[in-house]
Amino acid sequence: MIVTLRSDADPARVRRELVARGLWIQPLTGGDGAHVAVSEHSAHVDPDELRRIVGVASVSVAPSAHPRVDAQRAVTFGRAQPPSSGSEPARRSGDDGRITLSVGSAPVLMAGPCCVESAEQVERIAAQVARGGARVLRGGAFKPRTSPYAFAGHGRAALGWMRDAADRHGLAVVTEAMSSEDAPAVAEVADLVQVGSRNMHDYALLRAVAGCGKPVLLKRGMAATVEEWLLAAEHLLVHGASGVVFCERGIRSFDPTTRNVLDVGAVALLAHVHGQPVVVDPSHAAGRRDLVPSLARAGLAAGACGLLVEAHDDAGAALSDGPQAIHPDELATMCGGTP
Ligand code: PEP
Ligand code: MN
Repeated sequence: MIVTLRSDADPARVRRELVARGLWIQPLTGGDGAHVAVSEHSAHVDPDELRRIVGVASVSVAPSAHPRVDAQRAVTFGRAQPPSSGSEPARRSGDDGRITLSVGSAPVLMAGPCCVESAEQVERIAAQVARGGARVLRGGAFKPRTSPYAFAGHGRAALGWMRDAADRHGLAVVTEAMSSEDAPAVAEVADLVQVGSRNMHDYALLRAVAGCGKPVLLKRGMAATVEEWLLAAEHLLVHGASGVVFCERGIRSFDPTTRNVLDVGAVALLAHVHGQPVVVDPSHAAGRRDLVPSLARAGLAAGACGLLVEAHDDAGAALSDGPQAIHPDELATMCGGTP
């Protein structure tokens, strides 16, 4: 951002006004008057507020590559629920029982198995995660698997099992769409359509998912820059998604000790600089259940407004990602509750 001063301005006074708003400034001298460059690491101040400072002639802002993302502040999803009776606990977010994610909102827990293994399994785990404080049931019907021999999900049948289980326990559903072809079926049952890490750069899929008009949970590609992630979200918003929730799930590093590296710096940047709703997936970041609670706390401390956690009641027998699944009984402490 460049602030241009009027020829009759008192430059020292204008500079004081800018600094008082938390801006880092660098005075520049140009041919047609005094200019001040505002560093991008400054506090975020509405340019119109700066235009009103006495002595400021104009403020120019570089055009953003992702204006629709910049304009987004909150994402609301889930089905409106009937008003609760006096005997039921008070609702935690939104008057109608829908869920809103935005910077600073009460953390929302999304939990469930890595993959939906059977109607019975997802029903049982939905009941358990609901008891643990989750508001959203996660689970894969279509699973991206590194090995072609690994279980890749029950597909469309699992979508129905998951929706039924979620409805019985008052949960919203987040589940992944892996192909353009399956996107409409996924969007039909999901409240939040997940785009997985491996597919963040699949622009045809982004377009197909966006075209369904649902809000999307966009996982960060495992080697994606923050700018690429923001631009993938812009693709979704341009093509019709009703909102994008960012999900940091760890990026690749040289060290295989943990499955990935949870980039809490990116979480803080998205939340506090870009003002975006971001959730953290500590399960795929850690790859091991003992680290999941610590990474969950780190993510929330950095500015996440929600968690996406893998939970299974028989992790030893899980068809995928058993080593990183926590028991649903552990969920109650995940968003800051006491053990
Ligand atoms: C998942 O959350 O089910 C998943 C496959 O995660 P990711 O895309 O982050 O690997
Ligand atoms: Mn998984």
